[in-house]
Amino acid sequence: VSLTISPINDNKGNIIGVSNIARDISERKQDEARKNDFIGMVSHELKTPLTSLSAILQVLNTKLKRSKDGFVPEALNRANQQVKKMSTMINGFLNISRLESGKIQIDKQAFIIGDLIKEVIAEISLTGVAHIIELQSCDNVVIHADREKIFSVLTNLLSNAVKYSPKGSNVLINCNQQDGKVLVSVSDEGLGIRPEDRDHIFDRYYRVESSRTRHISGFGIGLYLSAEIIQRHDGEIWVDSKSGKGSTFYFSLPLQP
Ligand code: ADP
Repeated sequence: VSLTISPINDNKGNIIGVSNIARDISERKQDEARKNDFIGMVSHELKTPLTSLSAILQVLNTKLKRSKDGFVPEALNRANQQVKKMSTMINGFLNISRLESGKIQIDKQAFIIGDLIKEVIAEISLTGVAHIIELQSCDNVVIHADREKIFSVLTNLLSNAVKYSPKGSNVLINCNQQDGKVLVSVSDEGLGIRPEDRDHIFDRYYRVESSRTRHISGFGIGLYLSAEIIQRHDGEIWVDSKSGKGSTFYFSLPLQP
């Protein structure tokens, strides 16, 4: 139950009483849980046909990659990219649903963060991005973290950097060790984020409303999930940005398990 207590004043401003409003919030929580279950169920159901579509595309790719008609491999490549995009979205929804029902687990292992960053850059580059993505500097640091989940945080930050900045611009990544932590930054030369949006971009389903972002697809879940993952590692995530001049997203993770 949520309780709101407020004073009742007479027309001279003297307090003459107190009002109590009690609201039942358990119904709202149940609604949220039902919505969450539904999203989880639909995402789960979509995974099976998508996995077979992806397998079929792979078979076609092997059979037709030497086709004389140049359109065929190109069309297969594009279909593959779209299937990958869909998988990323569905995984995002599944992760939200798992997270909110307390089913997400952090499985830590030791790995070199620089190697992981290189893997993410290689994977993003495969999707045919028209940006210059560069790992500028990286201390040779071993961290203890959930490799797969930090992979998805980096993928979110890098794909956002690409999505919200002009073709041909630079996306720069740095990673340094300091004060018992590793600090990773991803900078772009894109739209930037207004101060009034900065406090909300890590909220679930939040997307910036502007004529420049309206045509860019997304659901506003990438940063929410990234922030949850980093917090569950006792790390921090934040952004530094000037509207119109680009953004730098940072996250830090403790080095000790
Ligand atoms: P999505 O990109 O799917 O909308 P995210 O949770 O990843 O969801 O991001 C939330 C919002 O934050 C985006 O809709 C976008 O407006 C803003 N944003 C995220 N990254 C950047 C960036 N690098 N530059 C400008 N805006 C960004």
